[in-house]
Amino acid sequence: MDDSPGPRVAVVGAGPAGFYAAEAVLRSHETATVDIIDRLPTPYGLVRFGVAPDHQKMKVVTRLYERTLKDPRTRYLGNVTYGRDLNLEDLRRHYHAVVFAVGAATDRRLGVEGEDLEGSLSATDFVAWYNGHPDAADHDFASLLAGAREAVVIGNGNVAIDVTRVLAKSVEELAATDIADHALEALSGSGIERVTIVGRRGPAEAKFTTKELRELGELENADVEVRAAEMTLSPASRAAADADVTTGKNVEVLTAFSEQPKLGKPRTVALRFQLQPVGLVGDGKVSAVVFERTRLEDVDGQVRAVSTGEHETLPAQLVLKSVGYTGLPLPDLPFDERRGVVPNEAGRVLDAPGGTPLPGLYVAGWIKRGASGVIGTNKADAMESVAALVEDLAAESGRSAQASGGDRTAAAVDHLLLTRGVDAFSSEDWFDLDAEEVAAGEAAGRPRVKTVRLQEMIATARRRRGG
Ligand code: NAP
Repeated sequence: MDDSPGPRVAVVGAGPAGFYAAEAVLRSHETATVDIIDRLPTPYGLVRFGVAPDHQKMKVVTRLYERTLKDPRTRYLGNVTYGRDLNLEDLRRHYHAVVFAVGAATDRRLGVEGEDLEGSLSATDFVAWYNGHPDAADHDFASLLAGAREAVVIGNGNVAIDVTRVLAKSVEELAATDIADHALEALSGSGIERVTIVGRRGPAEAKFTTKELRELGELENADVEVRAAEMTLSPASRAAADADVTTGKNVEVLTAFSEQPKLGKPRTVALRFQLQPVGLVGDGKVSAVVFERTRLEDVDGQVRAVSTGEHETLPAQLVLKSVGYTGLPLPDLPFDERRGVVPNEAGRVLDAPGGTPLPGLYVAGWIKRGASGVIGTNKADAMESVAALVEDLAAESGRSAQASGGDRTAAAVDHLLLTRGVDAFSSEDWFDLDAEEVAAGEAAGRPRVKTVRLQEMIATARRRRGG
């Protein structure tokens, strides 16, 4: 049974890739309908829970996603978990196609001794905690921050810069953002005086974007420190800096940092290079990170860090591992363990890496290509996947619908969720919560005050529905 002449598509994951995919589906066919499904009540994924609270401008992109949510052909089904509330068979039965845009759900591990000592955490946990992600609300960063003077951030990507800024900024600077209230309170008791960002390769190999790097030199509350000796580039690194605009600008900015006098600000942000972590030490709690100095070698056009056997120890009472995200396997879908993605070809899910497409199933965003790029990168990525979806639907012209004998109606999905006792969060529920958060923010001179607990989000929706 079908209640729409156009394709009904489920998009699992309401982050940027999910919204770009939904938008592309709606544009592809004037009668196409989309259900955007997310395990959390709140939409927008890493725009809400990843983008740093002091980067509000980056969050303006949600206005576009809002337009998609308000489209009468879109439904939002928040608080619905794929694999628990709806499985693959359900989705196949009730939709013509499914796009998984669930992101890269976990952090990569260092694989060194002591990495799980108290005080050593993944930067992604810290990010989720200060951004008010419900799963991270119970982390006890407050006592860690109160007891720490030196923090070491391992990794040279933008997440390393984000967490460093949050550690280095004053509470007054952060108070005007939408940082979670619990984080603001904990950061007000922080004893951190020095944050050191450490890369295993050199300045020309760092994955920072220049705008983010430059910001470290503009912090009101912290001096920036780079050792001139660590700015000497090998011929291969020099060539990379000359060939790539971002790399060249990063090197310029870091060189300027190395020449900048310290101004006696309360905190220091140091950037160190060519240090590979080999172990964390401490008696139960982390007290230092041991690094091995590296030498850079050009192997097949790639600059590799090779150990020199020389060690250096940096004291740290807080260690944030910021070495990238990786995807997690999804129930009933194949997984490429090596790359941490669902195997796919241009977005079509394959039964195994390099295998054959599984009809009607697609991926977009980080679960498709790995954790790389900025928010906008997901637009072209999602459009590629939806182009494949549209092409396949046209080619199949409803064959898959008949094959699985599905009931492709919105009512069928609602009925299924109801019988399973799932209280789905609708677009209206979200817009109501959004308005409450923004109103609470206005009263406090902030963009919004985030609701952190799932029960509180649901309670807000129930109040509205009842009133
Ligand atoms: P990333 O950019 O992939 O950086 C990961 C860093 O970890 C690299 O410097 C990498 O070094 C290092 N690393 C990996 N394994 C390591 C190990 N075993 N030991 C030591 N270092 C190791 O990851 P990310 O910072 O998590 O960012 C993820 C994505 O989100 C990126 O595309 C980023 O640009 C994006 N993002 C953007 C913004 C923004 O636009 N403002 C903010 C946050 C995140 P090697 O290079 O040597 O492998």
